[in-house]
Amino acid sequence: MWFFGREQIEIPSRDRVEIRLEAIGGQGANSAGKILAEVAILEKKFTGNHFSSFGSEKRGTPVKSFVRFSTSRKPIRSASFIRTPNLLVVFHEYMIESHPEIFSGVGIETDVLINSAKSPNELLFPKGVHPRWVGSIDGNKIAHGQNCGLNSVMLGAMIPFLPELGKESIEEVGGRYFVKLSEAERQANLSGLKKGYQGVRVKTALPHQDRINLEEQDQVRLGYENAPFGGVIVNPGNTALKSHEASRKGFAPKLDKEVCFNCGMCDQVCPDFCFVWKINPASRFGAELVGLDYQYCKGCQKCIQVCPVQALTLTAENEITELERSTSWLENQK
Ligand code: SF4
Ligand code: SF4
Repeated sequence: MWFFGREQIEIPSRDRVEIRLEAIGGQGANSAGKILAEVAILEKKFTGNHFSSFGSEKRGTPVKSFVRFSTSRKPIRSASFIRTPNLLVVFHEYMIESHPEIFSGVGIETDVLINSAKSPNELLFPKGVHPRWVGSIDGNKIAHGQNCGLNSVMLGAMIPFLPELGKESIEEVGGRYFVKLSEAERQANLSGLKKGYQGVRVKTALPHQDRINLEEQDQVRLGYENAPFGGVIVNPGNTALKSHEASRKGFAPKLDKEVCFNCGMCDQVCPDFCFVWKINPASRFGAELVGLDYQYCKGCQKCIQVCPVQALTLTAENEITELERSTSWLENQK
């Protein structure tokens, strides 16, 4: 039994636990899965397995990580995808609508944990998705504040849902796993893990939370006149729809033009030519940086690291305005 914020979680003892982590490449779902498996199998001596499935690239495409273990140490013979998880963890809130298939197999015995600034009962799910407990954690904010990986925060937030593994064991194994990092990074990740545990909010799922009707959404309707060529994947993140919601890790750089002195370092490291310039003879270098075209930004943060005057700051995507995200402002620069 576990208490948090007046809500009480009671998870009956389970003989077998199956966890599915849904993330975008680069958010650390694979490492989080590894740590959970190490806790279950090496620390607790349960039987179990862990593996991950990656998209077409390891960064920026959907990743699934699976962990299953048996507390009664029965042989685990299945190495297939986990279809009916006891715990579903979503590392990127945008995936709720852009990849609704992540909820497949969620039933009344499934707990769902989502990286979101919203409270658990503010989160909406696709029609027909009725989990048991819903947890939410503002993982991006904590990870940014602690300067640690999002996966450490999410691991901490999973603790209440996994009484079989226990807080101490997860912290212990996490601490050993982070040894490969510098001591400062190790401490940052341990701190992020603790903050995740302290910050997770949990509520019973309400019946009306399954309000997203994907059928009614404003999506491109495909017919014989506009059917895509064979092999085109028509879902968000695809250039055909120009939706990049699911292609970043939750952060993007924000430019402070007052600080920028147009040195161009950011443009040299950007792999996707996101920086938009215009000729300006009055500028020290003859050109002026006018902004970023977020349509192409994958949030790799290389530009932030090289900017000598911190004119670019790491910003949560939901703090970037619609106007900044759209490319309409570019029209005015021509
Ligand atoms: S975060 Fe990466 S992709 Fe985005 S503008 Fe900076 S360097 Fe380019
Ligand atoms: S590196 Fe920084 S100062 Fe230089 S152009 Fe880019 S944002 Fe401006």
